[in-house]
Amino acid sequence: TIAASSISAQRVKQVWQREIARFNDLHPESLRQHRLASQHFLYGVPLHWMQDWPSPSPLFLKEAQGSRVSCVDGLEYDDFCLGDTGAMFGHTPAPLSAMLAETARTGLTAMLPSAKTVAVGERLAQMFGLPFWQLATTASDANRFVIRWARAITGRSKVLVFDGCYHGTVDDTLVDLVNGKTTARDSLLGQVYDLTQHSVSVPFNDIAAVRQALAQGDVALVLTEPALTNCGMVLPQPGFLEELAAACRQHGTLLALDETHTLSTAWGGYTRAWGLNPDFLVAGKAIAGGVPCAVYGFTAEIARGMRAAKQAAAPGHSGIGTTLSGSQLAMQALAVTLEQVITPAAYEHAIGVANGLAQGLEEMIHSHGLPWSVTRLGARLELQFCTCAPVTAAQAAAAENAELTATLHLGLLNRGTLLTPFHNMMLAGPATGHGQVARLLANMAEMLTELGA
Ligand code: PMP
Repeated sequence: TIAASSISAQRVKQVWQREIARFNDLHPESLRQHRLASQHFLYGVPLHWMQDWPSPSPLFLKEAQGSRVSCVDGLEYDDFCLGDTGAMFGHTPAPLSAMLAETARTGLTAMLPSAKTVAVGERLAQMFGLPFWQLATTASDANRFVIRWARAITGRSKVLVFDGCYHGTVDDTLVDLVNGKTTARDSLLGQVYDLTQHSVSVPFNDIAAVRQALAQGDVALVLTEPALTNCGMVLPQPGFLEELAAACRQHGTLLALDETHTLSTAWGGYTRAWGLNPDFLVAGKAIAGGVPCAVYGFTAEIARGMRAAKQAAAPGHSGIGTTLSGSQLAMQALAVTLEQVITPAAYEHAIGVANGLAQGLEEMIHSHGLPWSVTRLGARLELQFCTCAPVTAAQAAAAENAELTATLHLGLLNRGTLLTPFHNMMLAGPATGHGQVARLLANMAEMLTELGA
């Protein structure tokens, strides 16, 4: 049986086969376009991750609006994936669409600060409580740049990350903890550098392990999400983040919080909600409503350190930044999204809807006697196949079941509910409706019946 529940592996296989057939019946046009696209795109998709959906082909998108998407077969979906967080605040919010039309006429990129710069700086400072900011184009880049600045400021080489972390395609962070040793992630392609030389991985929520690693005095930066969201979901234990910040201060290590996903917690992210004081804060993906853009903020002391490091270096390439970062397009999108889309009212709605979803899932888990649990970061929920919320990534990994996840997701997709691939994440946005939650719960209940739970 699976995860000590009444669901058998054999039943999962049978349901999986049925759902595959059902997908194929329902989606001839997506399948056809996928076959054609395969002639010119690797795996038939422009980004190979798009092949990770559980369906025989990914849905080929027709349109995405608010909390709904439609596919080229003319079917509509309640979207709880929301672009794997890129559309956390809804697809194509109206103020952003209007702004994009105007920006398309008035200039996209010119290597000049634009008229929105002052307002964006003020808004970011107000929202996240950090006075200084720089832009990047992706959250991966923002994290990469924070790591470089931290190394340049401190003169130290090492980065500490937590086991199970994901911060984008940032080589320094793509390490795992295997039998107590930091190891390059074995799924990496084309990685030839020894990542273990300058990266250290320790278990999340293990302050003793953090202190021991920092005591060597060679760690420039601790980079972490306030709660891990990329290995299932692992919340910090009470006091862990405060102890982490104190240990960093004690050992002269800088602390960066990556809020790219945890922005779901509340307006101003987890950092504001919990009154944390990091040296750096990173946010990407949804921060400009889906237009490629990321931001990183830092304290006045860090800004002084940056200037000093830059002045001490030879003139020329800093190795930090990309040409389209902070373009007019990004700034306009960021301005309108921060002012009109990422609002306290938007959070109030999304979190209210997520409350209903969490409650419905918990009732279902209880009534079926399933050893599962729901973990929560505001508008973001994770359904995990374990009775208690995991405390480390290793515990979260032990609760994973790829076959069951894929079968549930495919069954839900066939019934009109879209969940993110990779894990059991459900994200509510400002446009998500209570009716969509009711449909998700009804579809989930139907799948549990199919699975004999
Ligand atoms: N940080 C976190 C916490 C993430 O989850 C991700 C992507 N899943 C990133 C950074 C990188 O984002 P991007 O792929 O947009 O660069």
